[in-house]
Parts: sequence; structure tokens; C-alpha cells
Amino acid sequence: MLRIALTGGIASGKTTVSDAFAGLGVPVIDADINARAVVEPGTPALQALVGLFGTAILEDNGELDRKALRQIVFRDEQARKQLEAVLHPAIRSLSEQQSHDFAAAGHPYLIHAIPLLLETGQAGDFDRVIVVDVPVELQIERVMQRDNCDRPHAEAIIRSQASREQRLQAATDVITNHGSTDDLRAQVMALHSKILALATAAH
Ligand code: ATP
Repeated sequence: MLRIALTGGIASGKTTVSDAFAGLGVPVIDADINARAVVEPGTPALQALVGLFGTAILEDNGELDRKALRQIVFRDEQARKQLEAVLHPAIRSLSEQQSHDFAAAGHPYLIHAIPLLLETGQAGDFDRVIVVDVPVELQIERVMQRDNCDRPHAEAIIRSQASREQRLQAATDVITNHGSTDDLRAQVMALHSKILALATAAH
């Protein structure tokens, strides 16, 4: 089974693209969903975080209070490292389990959607890297519109991520998202056929 990473900057269209792959029957592992799943109430990771940072990081209903946690790790490098040492292995183990299950079910390939693929140094772990690419100006407009924020805020988030050029350098396949969503879906269909052929050849 080929393991394909899908990435792109904020509001580039990753969710729209991964939904289109899912609509074609391709299994999708979503790093954001898994990051939330591993800290649900009752999980060992949430217990470990409470051990590290105390019950101040819990809401009244026992769920993780992300805002409180963010405030603790903000500007505290050691706390951030402790947080990552709990989260990263838990997320990795969950996605490896999912990957194993999809392989056992006979899928020729799977998509692993990871927004911060480059920033977390994971690009080399995959057979191919699909990058959803948009011109920065259009990206700013989509962030402002979707998140109802101003231009400096949108620009600051974009600056904190890998650059468009860095992502394009890491790409084996590029989906351009400056057209319509129909255009996007047509590119996904074409790429799906290409990857299926590669997966068959690799078998
Ligand atoms: P994030 O990383 O912030 O979660 P994302 O990369 O998953 O974002 P989407 O949620 O798919 O991006 O798209 C971002 C926004 O842009 C959404 O509001 C979506 O409806 C819109 N959008 C995506 N593609 C197009 C397109 N081709 N034309 C118009 N709007 C689009």
C-alpha cells in the first residue's frame, strides 16, 4: 500500500481535497482529527498531561481546555517539549494502527492529511507528497473570509508556516486551487488514477 501525504498552507483547500479523495473511496487519516482523539477524556495521553500540568487544563466536563493548555506552553519551551513528548507518540501510534487496518483491508493507497507536514519534518516518511497550492494573495483572502479576521492576522499565520516555495519543493504532486471547486475535483480524479496505476505497478 502506498502512503501519500497531503499538505498545504492554511485555507489552501486541504479539507476540500481530502473530502474529494474520501468520496472516491480512498481512506484518509487526518492528523488534526487524530490530535483531538488522543486527548479525549479517559485517554492515557490526557491523563499524562494532567500529571504534567495539573487539573487547570481540564474543563468542568473533563475535556481538555485547549486555551488553558495553550497559555501554559506559550513562550515556555520546556512545557511545549513536554506536551509534544506526550502528544506525538500517541498520535503516531494511532495513525500507525489506522494505516495497518487500511492495509489489511486491501486498499491500494491511503492519504494522510497533515497540515504541518514540512514544519514537523515528516515529508520523508511518505511515498508521495501532494501539495495543495494557492497564490498567497488568494490564500490571505480565503483566510480573512472564512475566519472573519483582518489582513495582518491572516498574514501572520501564513508567515508562521512553511513558505509556498518550501512546500512546492517537497511536492511530488501539486493540486492548484485557484480555480473552481469543480476544477479541484477534476484534478483529484486525475491524481487518483495516476496513484492507482503507481500502486498497481509497485505491487
Ligand atoms: P485549514 O488548514 O485552515 O483547515 P484547508 O486547507 O483545509 O484549511 P479548506 O477548509 O478546504 O482548506 O478551504 C478553506 C476555505 O476556502 C473554505 O472556506 C473553502 O470553502 C474555501 N475554498 C476552498 N477551495 C475553494 C475554491 N476552489 N474556490 C472557492 N473557495 C474555496
